[in-house]
Amino acid sequence: MQLANNISNPLDLSVVIPVFNEEAGIDALIARVTGVCSAVFGDRYEIILVNDGSRDGSWPLICAHAERNPHIVAVNLSRNYGHQMALTAGLNHVRGALAFVLDADLQDPPELLEPMLAKIREGYDVVYGQRTSRQGETAFKRGTASIFYRLLGSMTDTNIPRDTGDFRLMTRRVVEQLNAMPERYRFTRGLVSWVGFKQAAFPYEREARFAGQSHYPLTKMIALAIDAVTSFSVVPLRFASHLGMIFGAAGLLALFWIAAVWLAGGTVQGWASLAALTLIMGSVQLIMLGVFGEYLGRMYMESKHRPLFIVSEVRHNPASTDAAGDADRASNPVARMEQQLRESFRAAG
Ligand code: UDP
Ligand code: MG
Repeated sequence: MQLANNISNPLDLSVVIPVFNEEAGIDALIARVTGVCSAVFGDRYEIILVNDGSRDGSWPLICAHAERNPHIVAVNLSRNYGHQMALTAGLNHVRGALAFVLDADLQDPPELLEPMLAKIREGYDVVYGQRTSRQGETAFKRGTASIFYRLLGSMTDTNIPRDTGDFRLMTRRVVEQLNAMPERYRFTRGLVSWVGFKQAAFPYEREARFAGQSHYPLTKMIALAIDAVTSFSVVPLRFASHLGMIFGAAGLLALFWIAAVWLAGGTVQGWASLAALTLIMGSVQLIMLGVFGEYLGRMYMESKHRPLFIVSEVRHNPASTDAAGDADRASNPVARMEQQLRESFRAAG
């Protein structure tokens, strides 16, 4: 796995934004994020936009922004790897002392940077957004999300806070820990909780999508939920023994009942109940086999040690119009070296 860029850097903040088919919202996104960042950090920030194999015009649009805005780092993945992996790729490119993770659809208001920063200054390493309301989301999504967090909480020792997404502000040392985690099935918000340090919740109202539609249909949400559970808990593996005991006890009771009926001179009628029991037992066994398979399959995939994602291109134009930024870079040997590295990287394609 490609680790975070180790060059020390004068940047204060890296904003990390995964992008998948967000063409319609990118201009507004960059305008809002740039406004907020420059107000707080002046020139000392970057916005890392990770294009996760978008099929619309997102990438050319991001490149056009990167060409004229020196704060934008455009990272193109070789295909669609999914939200969590795009986020991981973005975190791998972080150079700032802080990382601010946002969604591209402006559901997480970038303006909250300042109040979240105040928390960091109080000594927290992670300030995570916790949703107080979710506009534009169905009761079904709200309901399933709530059940999911409660279930997950009951299955793991890691305290994964409820109603959080990936919207958070973190210090560099947390990002470095995340980048050092080689796992492939990444439930980032859980990994952040696992890292520890001092973490604070930041309640906020999640806005409706600025444009386009959610890329999290039910199937992807279920996949993410399974990733979360299998990454953080082995409790499901114990279901087999629990179920075994329950069915064993039920079988014994049935046996006593049958014996009692027989002693009273009768017989228990059989075929229908027997058929139902056989089907139920078969299904329970297959489901448990599936649960085991889920863990086994993940172990198999992890054992291949493939790279988590492939970056096909990074575009960044530190030499564009921004005069203040140029002066800063010219006077700073680390920034100069880094610029040379980046140029050679671009030349190498
Ligand atoms: N996203 C991504 N790759 C994907 C799906 C989504 O990078 O395969 C990005 C998407 O552009 C957005 C973020 O992940 O910035 C969250 O996605 P979305 O808004 O669709 O999810 P929701 O907010 O509905 O949970
Ligand atoms: Mg969204």
